[in-house]
Amino acid sequence: MNNTVFYLMSEKLSNYAMLSCPGSQPHNTDVCPVCGGIYTSRINPIIQTCFEGKKEADYFYDSLFITHLVSPQLLNALQEAGITGYYDQKTDFIEWTDRTTGKKLDIDGSKYREIVITGRGGYLTDLEGNRIPYCEKCGKIEYFGLYSYKGFSTDDWDGSDMFFLKNWPGVLLVTTKVKKVITKNKFKNIRFEPLKEFQFT
Ligand SMILES: [Zn+2]
Repeated sequence: MNNTVFYLMSEKLSNYAMLSCPGSQPHNTDVCPVCGGIYTSRINPIIQTCFEGKKEADYFYDSLFITHLVSPQLLNALQEAGITGYYDQKTDFIEWTDRTTGKKLDIDGSKYREIVITGRGGYLTDLEGNRIPYCEKCGKIEYFGLYSYKGFSTDDWDGSDMFFLKNWPGVLLVTTKVKKVITKNKFKNIRFEPLKEFQFT
């Protein structure tokens, strides 16, 4: 049982532009024969990106290929603070369009960098350290029944400031250090929820 305070970091959404990564880019799809969990992985590590909406943000997420993007300012702040658990790489920007008209907007989406999360935690546990039920084959948590839990933790953590759990695909967890850097600089489109108070809804 780990007593370090962790936060889920996610998009605030409210009116900000949205990222989508075209499903037409080369990828593999694997399905777990036991739980039916679907795993989509890209073949080219450089992700293709499209944005929709006028309001620019400092952070974007798309779940299809598990993509976390940050603005140059946010990346710079993470680097200056010595945040660990990721590396950054360029993206293959396709287009930025208006949500209502579908017209192209003159916004350069290539300035956003992907942060590839390398930090790792263990399995998702309840607050007593018991593992949440998961698929024996692929490890994925079983969403059915999760609604009865309030508050979570993890049974292992490599000490990185940004990390993924073994069996909660794409969900970004961060330390207080990350939250402080982001809150202090008022970066846009990011919200934090304490993992120990999180509830599936
Ligand atoms: Zn499975």
